[in-house]
Amino acid sequence: MIGHRSDANGAHFAFTDRWGGVSAVPYEELNLGGAVGDDPAAVLANRAAAAGALGLDPARVVWMNQVHGADVVEVDGPWGDADIPSVDAIVTARPGLALAVLTADCVPVLLADPVAGVAAAAHAGRPGMVAGVVPAAVAAMTKLGADPARIVARTGPAVCGRCYEVPEAMRAEVAAVEPAAHAETSWGTPAVDVAAGVRAQLARLGVRDVEDAGVCTLESRDHYSYRRDRTTGRLAGYVWLNREET
Ligand SMILES: [Zn+2]
Repeated sequence: MIGHRSDANGAHFAFTDRWGGVSAVPYEELNLGGAVGDDPAAVLANRAAAAGALGLDPARVVWMNQVHGADVVEVDGPWGDADIPSVDAIVTARPGLALAVLTADCVPVLLADPVAGVAAAAHAGRPGMVAGVVPAAVAAMTKLGADPARIVARTGPAVCGRCYEVPEAMRAEVAAVEPAAHAETSWGTPAVDVAAGVRAQLARLGVRDVEDAGVCTLESRDHYSYRRDRTTGRLAGYVWLNREET
């Protein structure tokens, strides 16, 4: 259920795998995505189960309507009856509020400055990485008092640069913006390494504590991969800060 989990001074980071939920084929088992054709009741049950495994209240987990852009919104609590905003990054200074990002090959990026008490989650696919969604998230965190030098960054399971084949022209287009993303597949054709692009962006901003889950979704049967399966579920990444002591 929870494939990767780490903690740093009161900041918590977790990424799910595909097992331990109630979704039926082809979404089996722990699909957390609400817009992929799965039974909504199964998605709700899975979200509750994943939150429970993390010690979180599912009502205090904030999701995004992800659109492959670079917009960021600050969030103070659950959306309630409000429309879920169409953004690819959310940032909060609210302890105990979990921010969640959905992926199936794109790079889920979790960020936190435990000292400032600021966290962010970002969805960085190829277009989002090129558009700068991760630098935008770091900028939004900085506005709330975070210091890039203190930010802890965790990137989750995603398609790797040896598997993410793209046309030559697309690789050139991406590399013109982010040279670090220039890659080649294991079979020798043009590719893009989105995670490498994200790491380069974070390094330029002065974020030094960066760790990757080290899992390629396309190669791992324990993870959802859109490029491998097309109709499939979504993994989630969660970041949250300790609740205030009462
Ligand atoms: Zn791979």
